Amino acid sequence: MLRSISYCPHCGEHSLQSDSSKSWRCARCDFLWYQNTAAAVAAIIVQADEILFAVRAGAPQAGKLDLPGGFVDNDESAEESLLRELDEELGLKNVQPKYLCSFPNTYPFAGIEYKTLDLIYWIELRQRPRLQAADDVAAIRWLHPDAVPMEAVAFDSVRRALGYFRANRKRLQIA
Ligand SMILES: [Zn+2]
Repeated sequence: MLRSISYCPHCGEHSLQSDSSKSWRCARCDFLWYQNTAAAVAAIIVQADEILFAVRAGAPQAGKLDLPGGFVDNDESAEESLLRELDEELGLKNVQPKYLCSFPNTYPFAGIEYKTLDLIYWIELRQRPRLQAADDVAAIRWLHPDAVPMEAVAFDSVRRALGYFRANRKRLQIA
């Protein structure tokens, strides 16, 4: 995950060694540093028989299809985080997300592979809203869930969430 990082953030010596899959220990001062899984949220927004995809504006995977969402901030609940992201990225307000499932993901950014746990919610809209792509969303695309080009989907967690959604939409009484 962080093979290139070997200097201790505490004593500054070249003595940081991998201690587990997510921790490093300084051989000189015993400083212990964790890089834990980050929480992230995303929404499958359904209207009629199509799902909203956010085309990624920037790295990683610029131009690929993603679900709207993002990283959970410090001291924020998953629901607060999702409502904030939907407003920031789409201008979408006044929705009631329901929890669907979660999948792990790897998010490479600026030379570091961040491990995330993506919490996926779903939202059903009665009407197609007027939305404005902003923040890290370049454009909005509505696609039928059976017609999503999987090679154009940005992340493994999103591909797995789409599979879960397709397999469970009848049971969940999603249109
Ligand atoms: Zn040290």
